[in-house]
Amino acid sequence: MSTPNLTAEQIEFQEHARAWLAANPAPETQIDLPLSQLELAKREQVEYYREWQRSCYEAGLVGTDIAKEYGGHGHSGCQDIANREMSRVGAPFLLNTVGLSMMIPAVLKHGTEEQKRRFIPKALSAEEIWCQGFSEPGAGSDMANQQTMAVRRGEGWVVNGHKVWTSFGQFAKHMILLARTSRDHKYDGLSFFLCPVEGHAGVTVKPLVKMTGELGFNEVFFEDCVIDDSLRLDEVGKGWTVAMTVLTHERGAAEGAGGGIRAVHPIERLIGLAKSSQRGGGLAADDPVTRDAIIRQAIVHEGIRQDARRARVPALNDHPMRLPMGQGVVRTEFEQDCARLGVDIAGARSTLYKHDDAAPDNGYWPLAYMNSYALTIAGGSNEIQRNILGERILGMPKSK
Ligand SMILES: Cc1cc2nc3c(=O)[nH]c(=O)nc-3n(C[C@H](O)[C@H](O)[C@H](O)COP(=O)(O)OP(=O)(O)OC[C@H]3O[C@@H](n4cnc5c(N)ncnc54)[C@H](O)[C@@H]3O)c2cc1C
Repeated sequence: MSTPNLTAEQIEFQEHARAWLAANPAPETQIDLPLSQLELAKREQVEYYREWQRSCYEAGLVGTDIAKEYGGHGHSGCQDIANREMSRVGAPFLLNTVGLSMMIPAVLKHGTEEQKRRFIPKALSAEEIWCQGFSEPGAGSDMANQQTMAVRRGEGWVVNGHKVWTSFGQFAKHMILLARTSRDHKYDGLSFFLCPVEGHAGVTVKPLVKMTGELGFNEVFFEDCVIDDSLRLDEVGKGWTVAMTVLTHERGAAEGAGGGIRAVHPIERLIGLAKSSQRGGGLAADDPVTRDAIIRQAIVHEGIRQDARRARVPALNDHPMRLPMGQGVVRTEFEQDCARLGVDIAGARSTLYKHDDAAPDNGYWPLAYMNSYALTIAGGSNEIQRNILGERILGMPKSK
């Protein structure tokens, strides 16, 4: 059945997306795949997801609404349908998250014709991977406190500084880079660049090991790195404006060029765990306290599912950030609560980790538990999201 209120073009597209996904399931693999793109660490994993994104792109499910001259498929209002269909069948994530959800929207809005033609097609096909260079040791939540300096020299810029928590940095060809071009103004002293990373002189990427033992993100050091002025996005001093475009898309308030809908933690997995775990001399699935805890999560899960439908009601979307930001906070905390409950149900066995034959669900629960903390930090912590929701959307007084 097609979704109500779709145009003829959208219905046809939805049928195509469903048929293609049914005929082309993600290839089976022996590779140890990560839980999400935030834990992507090995070249073989990257190649698996690159191939998946490329085939989705060729099938029209990525870059669906992007104009054909920039490598897209030229549809209207169909990307959201593609995202939902991919999510519905539990398709693998799309590798080039930063390219699709951040770089492309920013270049479409602020870029030159040359930048659009040069960068968008290869990001859509995952030929070129992008990373995001916003966070620094002293500039995370306080993003305008950037200290990485770009100084004008001739036709280009010389960059010196230090970025941190850079996901995909070790595989990236380019970075969306926020840098300071003037110390005289806080916000107007920032500019935005499409900076080469891989093999570029003056750029060093150092992977960081997470508490899970996985490599997920990196430090990136710039030492006299030269960037051509043609790689500057928008005017000098407009970096903050471009960064806000990026954050609007990163936080889900506007659509990117593909992917972007995360499957939430499956309740079925918790039930399966309870059926194979002991509690009080019997099965955890028969224990009223455990059953009650799972049911509470199932209710939240259903609430999240129903809430997603509200995004399609125009009257509820008076502010573009209202629903996506609220949903982001609720969903990430729900995933954290589910992972915590899983660890609880597994009990002492949750100390057994990946690759231990005796570990329940192959060590999934302790891994999911530790990784779930990344979800409430990445893209701006939930405390910051709550501040924005309270102050900018609900109009409450500013916190001190
Ligand atoms: C898995 C992961 C991937 C990431 N990937 C990237 C990436 O690819 N590129 C990139 O640039 N960055 C990335 N980040 C960084 C991320 O954006 C920052 O970690 C985040 O913005 C928080 O900044 P911080 O770590 O400096 O914490 P801080 O800003 O130091 O905050 C510390 C704590 O104080 C709280 N806090 C700070 N200010 C306030 C306030 N005003 N009100 C209430 N509470 C406050 C925060 O909520 C947090 O709990 C990633 C982070 C994670 C976890």
